[in-house]
Amino acid sequence: TTPVLELRNVSKVYTIRQGLFAERKSLRAIDDVSLKVERGGVLGLVGESGCGKSTLAKILLGLETPTTGEVLIDGEPVGAQDRRKLARRIQPIFQDPYSSLNPRKSIADIISLPLRVHGIGDAASQDKAVREILDIVGLPARVMNSYPSQMSGGQRQRVAIARALIMKPEIVICDEPTSALDVSVQSQILNLLGELRREFGLTYLFISHNLAVVEHLATRVAVMYLGRIVEEASVAGLFDHARHPYSQALLESVLTPDPALGVPDTQLGAAYPNPIAPPSGCHFHPRCPKALPQCSSVAPRPLTTADGRIECHLFDEEKAEPATA
Ligand code: SF4
Ligand code: MG
Repeated sequence: TTPVLELRNVSKVYTIRQGLFAERKSLRAIDDVSLKVERGGVLGLVGESGCGKSTLAKILLGLETPTTGEVLIDGEPVGAQDRRKLARRIQPIFQDPYSSLNPRKSIADIISLPLRVHGIGDAASQDKAVREILDIVGLPARVMNSYPSQMSGGQRQRVAIARALIMKPEIVICDEPTSALDVSVQSQILNLLGELRREFGLTYLFISHNLAVVEHLATRVAVMYLGRIVEEASVAGLFDHARHPYSQALLESVLTPDPALGVPDTQLGAAYPNPIAPPSGCHFHPRCPKALPQCSSVAPRPLTTADGRIECHLFDEEKAEPATA
């Protein structure tokens, strides 16, 4: 079957200049990423902040254009699709519902905005749709006249989910949808997302820096490091026996909580690298506890495994085949 969402060799390169007279440098935010998501599946995309996850989300939402490669929905290249049609099929749920909800608008206005932008229905049917979707996400109809500041973090995230779902999308891009929430509220929102997926047959790309968060929701997991997918596997496969040393480190939570601080990891020995000057060979080699002599000079190639794909020299000797896009 054709995957509902597919990325083929997608790269995104930014040219940046740090200071007025500095020379231009290129930053490869996404580096040759190929991924497929089956209809009704949940692909967890995991990696530290700055690895390219959010850039990938923006590409899928049409907010950024890939430098090379293509995005396909139901086998059709997205570039060829009308932007308005695309918005009806893919909707985002972002990390911080507070900054993504207009504080001056009522909840009813916020949730119905996509319908008004796309000219779907009249005022009465939009009002009815808002009431229905509030009920679906577990909010009482009376919040229609409330403002975001009057709601809790969990309620605001329910509003953001309602706004995404009112367009009846097929694919929802969830970018750290629970990381701004208290732990107890996080699980309620994750449960809600799981129920909505089953009820409406939704397909999710679920982006998180936290592997544990994706465990209960995802069907497959892709692990990203400096713009590359270093391992992709089923959830069971990855959580039972992560094979890539970086996936193992993420699972053991030995990484610094905020790599932007540039603090070396106590167990990995080095901080997250600067994406403008990625390490030679395998980008992970300065932090890898299992690095081989060739790792600092030769980049590993993606290999197909029984359960997905991996790129790491530890597996070069296995009967793994070079991965095709
Ligand atoms: Fe570690 Fe080498 Fe594998 Fe990179 S290729 S993850 S440095 S063992
Ligand atoms: Mg991000």
